[in-house]
Amino acid sequence: MFEQNRTLDRTPDSRQPHDRLSPWSADAARPDTAPATCYTRGVFLTFLGATGTVTGSRTLVEPEPVDGGAGGRLLVDCGMFQGPRDVRSRNWDPFPLDPSTLTCVILTHAHLDHCGFVPALVREGFDGPVYCSPNTAALVPIILRDSARLQEEDTAWARKKGFSRHADPQPLYGSEDAERAITMLRPVEFGDAFTPVPGLTARLEVSGHILGSSTVTLTDESRQRTVVFSGDLGRGNHPLLDPPTPPCAADAVVLESTYGNRDHGDVDAEIDEMAAVITRTLKRGGTVVIPAFAVDRTEVLLQALRRLQDQQRIPVAPIHADSPMALAALRVYLDAIRNEDPELTSAVIAHGTDAIDLPNLHEATTPEQSMALDGGGARIIVSASGMGSGGRVTHHLKALLPDRDNCVLLVGYQAVGTPGRMLLDGAHEIKIHGEYVPVRAEIAEIEAFSVHADADELLAWLTSCGPLPTQVFINHGEPEASAALAERIRRELDIAAVVPDVGERVRV
Ligand SMILES: [Zn+2]
Repeated sequence: MFEQNRTLDRTPDSRQPHDRLSPWSADAARPDTAPATCYTRGVFLTFLGATGTVTGSRTLVEPEPVDGGAGGRLLVDCGMFQGPRDVRSRNWDPFPLDPSTLTCVILTHAHLDHCGFVPALVREGFDGPVYCSPNTAALVPIILRDSARLQEEDTAWARKKGFSRHADPQPLYGSEDAERAITMLRPVEFGDAFTPVPGLTARLEVSGHILGSSTVTLTDESRQRTVVFSGDLGRGNHPLLDPPTPPCAADAVVLESTYGNRDHGDVDAEIDEMAAVITRTLKRGGTVVIPAFAVDRTEVLLQALRRLQDQQRIPVAPIHADSPMALAALRVYLDAIRNEDPELTSAVIAHGTDAIDLPNLHEATTPEQSMALDGGGARIIVSASGMGSGGRVTHHLKALLPDRDNCVLLVGYQAVGTPGRMLLDGAHEIKIHGEYVPVRAEIAEIEAFSVHADADELLAWLTSCGPLPTQVFINHGEPEASAALAERIRRELDIAAVVPDVGERVRV
């Protein structure tokens, strides 16, 4: 599975890629021992995750040094697979290379599907630096600690209730592994050049997706070839963040395709629809449950809810943020505003913390406070996870879905196989904690809060700084979305665009 090769390199000195994972880096030099110059023959990318799916982002990067040179290998992102069981089970597959041979990891941002596997990698022997932007370094500990705790709790719950398929279920990793991973984070300022492995220069730039999110530019100094990883790309209209930095001088781009076959609707119309859904639910005495990613989506959503209340477009009702992780992330956002962080828009800095501070917010910090919200009544609950696949929101869904007065408002991308996607697709029952729950509540979807660029926006970013790249590798999308984006790039831009298979290896 991990032996497929493909090269799009059309230069005369093009070599065929190696047919196995790199043999030279078991004794790889660390960046601080790298020689001043390291000549390379090329850079190989191996797509280890986010292929045919929106989760498990992991791309192996290996510059091939000339004979005798110091080598190295790195991962861009090290995310967890999420979604249906057959995708989640990939977290348990043997890692396709010895983690101790990795020189470093570079993280594009703090979402679990981009950073959530680092503790498992550490437990399996990786001990290098994990480079990321300063705000990503502030958010990743929140995500990893929560992930470890959830896995420990879910494992204990499954063991107690006996609904695991395994006699003795184990977490993918625990809190100790997460704490070790956190000590390995190495913040790098946006725009600063660093040397992740000999022969490559790296630079992080703003990607406008969530606080701290970055594109990664890797330049092979000896061949003057550059590959840019989009990471998750924002839409350019994030209420707090600057738009994505163009991929200037890229010979190759690794491009996400979450919405590669979709165009986001009109934001104002979507917000009108959201106000209508919330109003009719609250007026009939129902509860609005909003599953939301704890980092960024919750912050942006709370800001919008407050605005709607202030404008009297929705009734005033208690708004509950039921996610300790979201509240911790909110504090990182508030700190960034206070510190006038350069990735924030000048308007946000000018307004100060008023932009997202919510004096009327009720925080549910304990499980008891969380459970008390399920008694029904006119209220709004914002709770993680964003696809209903874990966390406290699963308990809210279980309690509130059977009552037709309630409403589940889906505001983010819902991956195939997740409860959120099943609700969107009209499921009459969904399985939560081993039990089927009838779906009688109203289900609504609002895309206005998407923090991913749509197809037009992805193309606009790709072409925002000439000359155009000669190769584009499409990842981080479901198969139809990735294929549609590749076709558009080929047809409209005349660029070689491919959707790599898992384990596929290419030379750039
Ligand atoms: Zn993301």
